[in-house]
Amino acid sequence: MRFLSGLGLWALSLLAIAPVHAETTAFTGARVIDGTGRAPIANGVVVVTDGKITAVGTRARTAIPAGATRIDVTGKTIMPGIVNAHGHLFFDAKSAIPPRTQLADQLALYARYGITTVYSLGDDGVETVKLRDELRTAPFGPGMARLYVSGPVLTATSPDEGRAAVRANAALGVDIIKIRLEGPPDAPIRTPAVYGAMIEQAHVDKLRIAAHMFTADETRGLVDAGVDILAHSIRDRDVDPALIAEIKAKGVGYIPTLTRDLSVFVYESTPDFVTDPFFTREEAYRLPLAALLEPEAQARVKASAAAQAIKPALDQARRNLKLLSDAGVAIAMGTDTGAPTGRWQGYFEHLEMQMMVEAGLTPMKVLVAATGGAAKVMRIDDMVGTLRPGRQADLLVLGANPLADIRNTHSLEQVWIAGRKLD
Ligand SMILES: [Zn+2]
Repeated sequence: MRFLSGLGLWALSLLAIAPVHAETTAFTGARVIDGTGRAPIANGVVVVTDGKITAVGTRARTAIPAGATRIDVTGKTIMPGIVNAHGHLFFDAKSAIPPRTQLADQLALYARYGITTVYSLGDDGVETVKLRDELRTAPFGPGMARLYVSGPVLTATSPDEGRAAVRANAALGVDIIKIRLEGPPDAPIRTPAVYGAMIEQAHVDKLRIAAHMFTADETRGLVDAGVDILAHSIRDRDVDPALIAEIKAKGVGYIPTLTRDLSVFVYESTPDFVTDPFFTREEAYRLPLAALLEPEAQARVKASAAAQAIKPALDQARRNLKLLSDAGVAIAMGTDTGAPTGRWQGYFEHLEMQMMVEAGLTPMKVLVAATGGAAKVMRIDDMVGTLRPGRQADLLVLGANPLADIRNTHSLEQVWIAGRKLD
């Protein structure tokens, strides 16, 4: 932290002595929510130079360099670009469209909705690793969200197999390891011997590790074994104070993914959100939505025991989110969007924020979880997530104030990534 704020001061002092670069932009007059949880700045100024934020403050106290391009956003709200800590990219290998194009289209879709960073937690293999590397060498100019990847989601039947799987993903160059506890109750991956070996190996390889889990008991085992991130909600019972204390003491991040559980049953009928103009504006949703709304498809969901069972699990997830947030556990907004089953990349991140507020969190807490908080949990807060000097200029301009009503994130007017405005 000290290093970073030092960097910000350095950037400011450089501005004071160096001639102003042609690429300086100053946003003036907006309410500025900086993503840290601090009170918003009324009538604020955000200065961006060469794609990075160089100053944020009140109009009265923030110098605008001579020659800067001024963008008057009086009466609007500026917030950081949204960080989705648990998304997915997918591609159809049989499609005539190359995988790279399919993946890039999804990053552009996220970006159109103001999701400027996506942590893809798996099943996407080597193609997303290649795309991530490509985007790292070319700056984020093409209107795509920033991408971090886990590579394939891992499971194993023995500690040795688990370690080998982690090493293989590490060799791919992934940003994080993702494991999935699933299968019958006696599945080896559910035992501390197997997942513990994988957690240990990830840490040997200097990688953090996120786990797909469901129950409080699984969570306790994972946290005892040193897992870094819980990639879903605890959905079987109220999380107990001892487990809350351990999650907090170990600094484990928690990603609720409420919309993931919603998507399992919501297409048994026609959800309200499909007529929301913020949803219907997106062409990419039309075809897959039509398939989900077919009467036979809806009947299948209605008849599915698994779909019906997730309803009480979602209620439990909401309760546990409130308990964990109130206790001060680090919450990161994540959705599990990207499975081609009605988990809408872009729109669902906004619905997730709405559901988090409905679970009892304040809009400010939710906005932090979706920006600076998510970036902190994913350890990318030196790059993105907050509007502070030295960070990438990923920001959103909204027509209405999301602190007054979280659904005002739908009033998205402009998306900027690395100081460049999306068309
Ligand atoms: Zn997932």
